[in-house]
Amino acid sequence: MNLDLTDEHELLRRTVRDFAVERVGPVAEALDREHRFPYELVKEMAELGLMGMTIPEEYGGAGTDTVSYAIAVEELTRVDSSVAITMAAHHSLGTLPIYLFGSDEQKREWVPELASGEKLAAFGLTEPEAGSDAGASRTRAELEDGEWVVNGSKMFITNAGTDITACVTITAVTGEDEISNIVVPNGTDGYEIAPPMQKLGWRASDTRELSFRDVRVPEGNLLGPPGKGFQQFLEILDGGRISVAAMGLGLAQGAYDLASEYARERKQFGKPIASFQAIQFQLADMATEIEAGRNMVYKAAWLKDQNRPFGREAAMAKLYTGELSHRAANAALQIHGGYGFMDEYAISRLYRDQKILEIGEGTNEVQRMVIAKHLGF
Ligand SMILES: Cc1cc2nc3c(=O)[nH]c(=O)nc-3n(C[C@H](O)[C@H](O)[C@H](O)COP(=O)(O)OP(=O)(O)OC[C@H]3O[C@@H](n4cnc5c(N)ncnc54)[C@H](O)[C@@H]3O)c2cc1C
Repeated sequence: MNLDLTDEHELLRRTVRDFAVERVGPVAEALDREHRFPYELVKEMAELGLMGMTIPEEYGGAGTDTVSYAIAVEELTRVDSSVAITMAAHHSLGTLPIYLFGSDEQKREWVPELASGEKLAAFGLTEPEAGSDAGASRTRAELEDGEWVVNGSKMFITNAGTDITACVTITAVTGEDEISNIVVPNGTDGYEIAPPMQKLGWRASDTRELSFRDVRVPEGNLLGPPGKGFQQFLEILDGGRISVAAMGLGLAQGAYDLASEYARERKQFGKPIASFQAIQFQLADMATEIEAGRNMVYKAAWLKDQNRPFGREAAMAKLYTGELSHRAANAALQIHGGYGFMDEYAISRLYRDQKILEIGEGTNEVQRMVIAKHLGF
């Protein structure tokens, strides 16, 4: 048994950490305050090969393993969640469905510009009436003269409305008890993208409501055989959970970093507050849980890299790090006292950015349902 990461993994971690600290850190607070999408940083991440990490090089990606991808997401989130989710949603939700389920022709048409990070893509599963019950999709697509005619709406979709978004893959009902995934290019007539939603956190990321009114796309935009959409999106969500689990881990680590630094500097009763055992115990608990979370996230990613079943481990890692990041952000803010409540202290942003990690890509309750199913219940 060998639990060491490879030299390549460590090098990648160093590269992404440097980028996050030097390029993202200095602008994160302003991007959040101004609800500004990080176009410049996306361009830089594309140049670093971070926008299509696990996609093979022949399709414009970097051809890395999933462990590398998890490390990159962790290191970005450690500094800023909006930038991390922009990269992670583009990769795992936007690009992978087309890469995994598309025909060779579809892959050649769409994937290179996405994997290289020149363009972004989104995945539209959630609807106003279909959240946790994602199979209850009401958006419909009917085949008419060689085209799918799409009608319906999608809710809370990440990356769908940026200036560089190429397309969204949506789930739609294509027949009785039949759901399929269809690629809808941005700019198609009848496809309307609402203004960015105003959010508690992830304020620099792009979240939109989408509507489709008699939107016509070529028959060839359906991914895989018709009716495979449900199975396909379950597979996408399993993989996506590794991303969100890595975000929980990164956010908890970022909160620990801020709390540890602050506790060493802040003096009360004539001493740094880090000298009080009550503070040390909180930091010790955080570090212990982060260690456990890291092992869970890397194990799920490693299983995926071995082409072994990983759905149970991904759901467990996502549930655990979601709740861990909640505890860590709360304790880290408490250690900052009143200063932690102020916008100028990064911990207040991490605290707000944390909550969605217990909701997106399946709520905590949904993760427990998935885990229970794996346990045979
Ligand atoms: C910022 C942001 C970005 C997002 N990005 C995307 C995206 O890119 N693409 C996309 O498709 N979706 C996206 N989502 C949607 C997200 O995945 C959903 O919000 C999530 O799945 C929960 O669905 P819901 O919000 O409709 O909540 P609901 O399903 O209405 O759940 C409400 C509450 O009921 C609980 N609940 C529901 N059913 C059960 C049950 N059977 N047993 C116990 N409890 C239950 C839930 O756990 C939750 O606590 C995003 C959401 C946000 C906020």
